[in-house]
Amino acid sequence: MKIINITDITEYLYCPRKVYLKLVKGIKAPPSQRMINGMLRHKVFDIFNKNEKALVSSIKEKMSSSEIKKLYDNLISNITQETILLNKNLITKFNIDNKEFSISIKKTTEPEINLRISAITNTINSGFFGAELWRNLKPKYLTEYKIESFELGLRGRIDRIKFEDGILPIERKSREKIFESDKIQLAGYALLLEKEFSRKVEKGIIEIMGKEEQVEITEELKSRVLEIAEKIRNLVEQNAFTPSSFQKCENCEFKQDCDE
Ligand code: SF4
Repeated sequence: MKIINITDITEYLYCPRKVYLKLVKGIKAPPSQRMINGMLRHKVFDIFNKNEKALVSSIKEKMSSSEIKKLYDNLISNITQETILLNKNLITKFNIDNKEFSISIKKTTEPEINLRISAITNTINSGFFGAELWRNLKPKYLTEYKIESFELGLRGRIDRIKFEDGILPIERKSREKIFESDKIQLAGYALLLEKEFSRKVEKGIIEIMGKEEQVEITEELKSRVLEIAEKIRNLVEQNAFTPSSFQKCENCEFKQDCDE
C-alpha cells in the first residue's frame, strides 16, 4: 500500500489539484532556504530524540534546573554542530549562516527543554535517578517525531507528543484560526500513535497563538483520514486529473505549473 503523508491529506483538503500536481505530475516547489532550514532542524530533532534517554539516565544525583538545562544545551549544541558539518555543502548552497542556524535551533529547542526540566525535577524529587529516572519520568515528551505505519499506509512528523496518563499529540500552528483540516491532521497522528504504542489516543492539542485547544479524536475524524488517504492513492493509481474550484491560487507555490 502506498504510504501517504499526513500533510498530503491536509493539502488535499485545501486543494486536491495540488496533491495531484505533486504526486502524479511530480511537481515540487523549488527548494528554498526556508525548506532546507526546516529539513536540517528535523535532522537535529531526530538525533535528539534518540539521545535523550541516555542524557536523562546519566543524571545520578540531585541537580538544579540550571544544571539540567546545561546538559540539554550541550547535547543540542553538539548535535547542531554535527548537523552543520554533515550538511556543509547544502548549507553553503543555500547561503545558510551557521551562527544564525545555531541560534534558531536554540530558540526552537528552548521551550521543549523547559518542559523537560520541569518533568525531570519533579521526578528527581520523587527519589528517582539514572535509568529509574527515565523509566518513571512523567510527563515524557518527544519533539518533531517521525512516525510511519506500513499497515495504515500513513506517515507524519508530530510537533510534540506528551506521554503522561495517556498519549497526547500536539500540533503547533502559527496562525489565528483552527481549521477542520487541523483536526484531521491530529486524527492522522492519533492513528499512527495508536499503532506504534498500542494504546488508544483519546484527544490531541492544537497550540495556537500561545493557547491550547483540545480536540477530541473521534472515530469519524479517524475514518476521514483513512478515506482521504485512499482517495489520494486512487488519484495516484489512476493518474487522474483532479478538477479544482478554488480561489486560493494567488499564494500557491504551484501556480506556475497549474493549468487552472
Ligand atoms: S494554483 Fe490553485 S488550483 Fe492550482 S494547485 Fe495551487 S491552489 Fe490548487
